[in-house]
Amino acid sequence: MNKNITFIFFIFLLFIANTSLFPQDIGKMTQDNTPLYKNPNAPIEERVEDILKRMTTEEKIEQLSGGNIVNNITGIIGLASGESGFSTPDNERLGIPGFKFTDGPRGVRLGNSTCFAVPESRAASFNTELERSVGYAMGLETAANGHNCLLAPCINVVRHPGWGRAQESYGEEPFLLGKMASAFIDGAQKTVMANAKHYAVNNIENTRNFVNVIIDERTLREVYLPQFKMAVDSGVASIMCSYNRVNGLYVCENEHLLKDILQDDWNFDGFVVSDWFAFKIRPLRALDAGLNVEMPYGISYGPPLNIANRINRIPMESLDDSVRRILKQKIRFGLFEGGAFVNVNKDIYKSEEHKRLALESSREGIVLLKNKNNLLPLNKNISSIALFGEAANEARLGDNGSSSVTPDYTVTPYEGIKNKLKNTNIILANNDEIEQISPKADVSIVFIGLTGRDEGEFLFITGGDRTSLNLKEEDETLIKNVCSSSNKCIVILEAGSAIVVDPWIDSVDALIMAWYPGQEGGNAIADILFGDHNPSGKLPITFGKSTDQYPPLLTNKLRVTYDYYHGYKYFEKNNIEPRYPFGYGLSYTNFEYTNLNIKNNEDSINVTFNIKNIGSREGAAVPQIYIGYENSKIDRPIKELKGFAKVNLLSNESKNISILVNFKDLEYYDTTNNIWRLENILYNLYVGSSSMDIKLKGEFNIK
Ligand code: BGC
Repeated sequence: MNKNITFIFFIFLLFIANTSLFPQDIGKMTQDNTPLYKNPNAPIEERVEDILKRMTTEEKIEQLSGGNIVNNITGIIGLASGESGFSTPDNERLGIPGFKFTDGPRGVRLGNSTCFAVPESRAASFNTELERSVGYAMGLETAANGHNCLLAPCINVVRHPGWGRAQESYGEEPFLLGKMASAFIDGAQKTVMANAKHYAVNNIENTRNFVNVIIDERTLREVYLPQFKMAVDSGVASIMCSYNRVNGLYVCENEHLLKDILQDDWNFDGFVVSDWFAFKIRPLRALDAGLNVEMPYGISYGPPLNIANRINRIPMESLDDSVRRILKQKIRFGLFEGGAFVNVNKDIYKSEEHKRLALESSREGIVLLKNKNNLLPLNKNISSIALFGEAANEARLGDNGSSSVTPDYTVTPYEGIKNKLKNTNIILANNDEIEQISPKADVSIVFIGLTGRDEGEFLFITGGDRTSLNLKEEDETLIKNVCSSSNKCIVILEAGSAIVVDPWIDSVDALIMAWYPGQEGGNAIADILFGDHNPSGKLPITFGKSTDQYPPLLTNKLRVTYDYYHGYKYFEKNNIEPRYPFGYGLSYTNFEYTNLNIKNNEDSINVTFNIKNIGSREGAAVPQIYIGYENSKIDRPIKELKGFAKVNLLSNESKNISILVNFKDLEYYDTTNNIWRLENILYNLYVGSSSMDIKLKGEFNIK
């Protein structure tokens, strides 16, 4: 009897342990008797398989979620303090380091990292090389803080400019989004893992936790996913699944999005991490669907998976697949060798290079929207300037949510202007001094816009979506009052997305969109105002004449249907004239476009043309290639961006430009057969300095 009880107890113990306490294969050793997986020269796949064989099921489950409560609470509190990091546990027995995540994408959310201009501004630079450098700098700063995965870039389509997090993304056009994201990832991943977020169809903020987006397969594939595919093609280590539902299912347990598309169609071999506390009602379903890491804690994973393990319900194949993906990236990024970050100087954020990059990325994103009678650039010997508006002596950095950065220093516009001018009377005026001050000043400048309170990640008391794209009434009144009593009047807008300017634009001589320009913002704005930098930014989102020109944002609905068209493609299809179109931005010089030539290759065309700077100042042009589908048999946009470049030219200089357009990028998704198809039609080709200012036209066939 006693023996029987002992036997039953032993079986029970085995059951609890699910036999996994005793891995059957203890793995391979190298010649010097160290385990194979610790050998940095062994192939990644072999190292992964070697560790996997040594791991118990509990150890595998432990890899799948954030576990260190204390550390991750600091991370969550860090939402307010700017000192945030989140980790998954280290496995001490085998020496498997955990992930250490930190947020981006306008800078690293740790210490006093460099605060760059927000991504919407960096998208306006249309400069992928610059974005690669910004990604590289952020990767280094992530590593300098002892972290190994940067939660950036954010690459959701700005379906509506009122989306609270528009500033974190690269705009409305998936092609531009994908190009900027790929460059950022390439730069950041020289040091640490990057994370492309928030997959997918996460374009409304206030209801982001629950909203159910109904979307047809063609719209999904052609409009909302291409930039994620481009991120995967550039080797991104991880993808964050978003809070919302798509066609009824929460994304983090959505097999169609995670398995069919991400894994099967795109061959993604990195790992998927859930957005923080994202909904997962069915852990096993999420595991099977392809959610690999749950953050910041194992609420669905963790204990529930351990229980499932005890009752033998764990889908081992899915568990192993998740662990393989996690291990693969940990090995790829050198975590077993201490991480690629070992040699990064902690103070790198203080380096001249990072300060210069902050300034450059801010300047290149600034868009000159209006410049009546070439008022700008201003002469540095101007005798008096009056500065109005709350933002004149404030450094507006943007959102207060997870993308917050606490930089070492900031430069306000007032300080930036003061740094530049020696002999000018600069008056920082109060709003009740308009009558006395503005008529006497040579120029009045109004600094106005939004803050993290008005738009950003929705945190109940701050941020969220904007249902109106107008400025606040008192701000519009301030502009009108200052401008009606000034000799010359300039408005500088600081915001993360489009602003409706129509109520006051006629009273203004010059208008600049400075976005949230980062720690060097004040210097960047001053450089543009006084001509030390010729503006070259182009709008990555359409600026309408009124909010109702756009399809509604639907911010308070729990079930919304997305249509195929948004942004400039919606405006063009519906014949709506915007105030400032996609791709628009003025310069202090002029460019002439000539000699268009289109040459067919096997799977692409080579578009060549010439650009000449015909003005008297050095400047950068942004030629944009749009492809038109006038001859299509199906409903397609009038035209779409499929190529661009950024070209710097001295006065009178000309350059031959060559841009490749891939046929792959011209395909549409055939939902009857579930395949991508290339139409055999005559395509229109436009070279523009914006989506509406077309300089050269051509046609081509697919051969
Ligand atoms: C945001 C993510 C962020 C995460 C961690 C979430 O609320 O949606 O973008 O990476 O928090 O801070």
